[in-house]
Amino acid sequence: ILSVQNLKKSYHSGSKELTVLEDISFDIQERETFAIVGPSGSGKTTLLGLCAGLDQPDSGSIELCGTLINGLNEDQRAILRNKKVGFVFQDFQLIPTLTALENVSVPLELRGDKNAVKEAKVLLEKVGLGDRIHHYPSQLSGGEQQRVALARAFSNRPEILFADEPTGNLDEETGKKVVELLIELNEESGTTLVIVTHDMELARKTQRILRLKGGKVMETLNV
Ligand code: ATP
Repeated sequence: ILSVQNLKKSYHSGSKELTVLEDISFDIQERETFAIVGPSGSGKTTLLGLCAGLDQPDSGSIELCGTLINGLNEDQRAILRNKKVGFVFQDFQLIPTLTALENVSVPLELRGDKNAVKEAKVLLEKVGLGDRIHHYPSQLSGGEQQRVALARAFSNRPEILFADEPTGNLDEETGKKVVELLIELNEESGTTLVIVTHDMELARKTQRILRLKGGKVMETLNV
């Protein structure tokens, strides 16, 4: 579902060029759970952004859900993301003025879903928030907010879900539960899961781990 070949990415600031990723190649199969780990600054977030079509590489190819995305312009990539890709972020990115229910149902409504509210309720029930649906994000704990974000991410049935440090703002125990929930939702829905984390213990809950260091692949491990 994702095939990355000889990827290279550098950032430019003034006359300086910083190579962030060098010669990265790997494949992820449908339904797989996959973790990208590595120290701070090793290029994890940059790699995730390229794989999800948020940014473009300097060279190399990325095939996402059957489409070669490195040749597409931003609008074309946005259409593909909208249809097939889900995201979960470290800082949840919920809309503060909407309730938990609305945070999940409104994006569905915008996509033209007539049963948005009903579907959102089912999803929130599934992530254990059935009794919190009318709460605003500020009235929810970090773990609860991330559960709302998971419900929202899975709501449009993405083929692949990218999660960037989804446990970064949570304590260890809550973070563990959120990753377990992500994997449970992955198993149930068949969505492919790609998680960036610096936490090796959490990464071990996935099926395969890619270890980055200094912008290069150190190894890929089968868990
Ligand atoms: P962390 O775990 O700390 O989030 P990371 O492994 O996700 O780190 P990246 O965020 O991908 O690493 O950053 C890799 C390198 O690229 C870092 O040295 C960072 O400073 C640099 N970098 C990231 N984004 C940009 C940008 N937009 N412009 C310039 N440099 C950038």
